[in-house]
Amino acid sequence: MTLLPLPAFDDNYIWMLHDGHQALVVDPGDEVPVLQALQAQHLQLKAILVTHHHADHVGGVDELRAATGASVYGPAGEEMPEPLQRMAGGDTLQLLGLSFSVLDVPGHTAGHIAWYSSGVDGRPLLFCGDTLFSAGCGRLFEGTPAQMLASLDQLAALPGDTRVCCAHEYTLGNLRFAQAVEPDNVALQQYTRQCEALRERQQPTLPSTVAVEREINPFLRSRHRAVVQAVQAREPTARDDVSVFAALREWKNQFR
Ligand code: ZN
Ligand code: FE
Repeated sequence: MTLLPLPAFDDNYIWMLHDGHQALVVDPGDEVPVLQALQAQHLQLKAILVTHHHADHVGGVDELRAATGASVYGPAGEEMPEPLQRMAGGDTLQLLGLSFSVLDVPGHTAGHIAWYSSGVDGRPLLFCGDTLFSAGCGRLFEGTPAQMLASLDQLAALPGDTRVCCAHEYTLGNLRFAQAVEPDNVALQQYTRQCEALRERQQPTLPSTVAVEREINPFLRSRHRAVVQAVQAREPTARDDVSVFAALREWKNQFR
């Protein structure tokens, strides 16, 4: 099984998984890179998985469905290009011989879902759209801080070796913020050097892993003492978990 990030637009990745014959893609905001990859590798597109309704994630769905006949699976609670099969937390799906389960992860959008598979070569896979980024998380366009914190807690509890397939290459910018929050985090400094080296060679920093994110992502570390102290130095009224998380997200929104 091969996992590929297909670059799209400025900084999106459309994730493709294939077995040499059949393929699935996640969040095809643009059909062009997907059609090119299918053609170049003589693959048949079986399924399109979608995490949320934003245009940079669904823009290529209609074209790909029409061109390939692939089945489309997306969130139960969002406006989507029809027809598709609507999925919600707890639902499962068999594709390319793998079992996928759906997680409800509201916050970036109200009905955002993530796709988790325990199965590629014994290493789990997570397609998390714009909920979790490496060293960051999505903006709260529709959900509350409490919802996003619960969604990220759910993802942080997945097995450490889960490969985290985020929909954007935002890693270096997120790492600059993470270092402002946790200047003494050694794992964060090492990971930053590793990601800078990858980007210098124009390579993706993704997939990350859940274990790495637990070590370096301030939004998965919002209950750690160093993060709480850094947030409270700016926002002394932030006391409970949710208000610390909300203030951390707000700090990132302002960060330049
Ligand atoms: Zn989005
Ligand atoms: Fe996006």
